[in-house]
Amino acid sequence: MAKLYFYYSAMNAGKSTVLLQSSYNYNERGMDTLLYCPSIDDRYGVGQITSRIGLTAKAHVIDQKFDIFEDVQQECAKNKNITCVLVDEAQFLNRAQVEQICRIVDELNIPVLCYGLRTDFQANPFEGSLYLLAWADNIVEVKTVCHCGKKASMNMRVDSKGNKVSHGEQIQIGGNDLYVATCRKHFNQGIANAK
Ligand SMILES: [Zn+2]
Repeated sequence: MAKLYFYYSAMNAGKSTVLLQSSYNYNERGMDTLLYCPSIDDRYGVGQITSRIGLTAKAHVIDQKFDIFEDVQQECAKNKNITCVLVDEAQFLNRAQVEQICRIVDELNIPVLCYGLRTDFQANPFEGSLYLLAWADNIVEVKTVCHCGKKASMNMRVDSKGNKVSHGEQIQIGGNDLYVATCRKHFNQGIANAK
């Protein structure tokens, strides 16, 4: 039985690296994978998943109206060798798309591995992550650390001086926001970095 996996983390934990390594492991054994990356704007087409240590792979960039179930079904009809679906930036999926992903697993019997952030800069859950946390068969944390050495679970938006930003849009399209992964205590205290 195929399963739905949700790998969640704070910023800069290396989840894209984990995704690309998983895809590579399938490819190395002669199995094909499908890679998707939801977009917050209306971009659509061929994009790229890039990890901080230099690995890259092509991915379908999908918008909010995209039916991922239909697309995977069509791709699998063309290529019987597709064995796994991987989704980066899964926090940007909407509820309908997470429902579609459940159907890929349950009706097409293809495992789906989703990778995303749990919460935004105001500590609110992202829509995609909310439903993935609720419905995934397996939930796995990709860990990273705060400046204090504790596990980082929060994503602090900071300005150019490193001060915490508390107000604004959940996602600033085209913005150059900086984020720092921190533990919950330092997030609430607004301390981004060790002084
Ligand atoms: Zn801390």
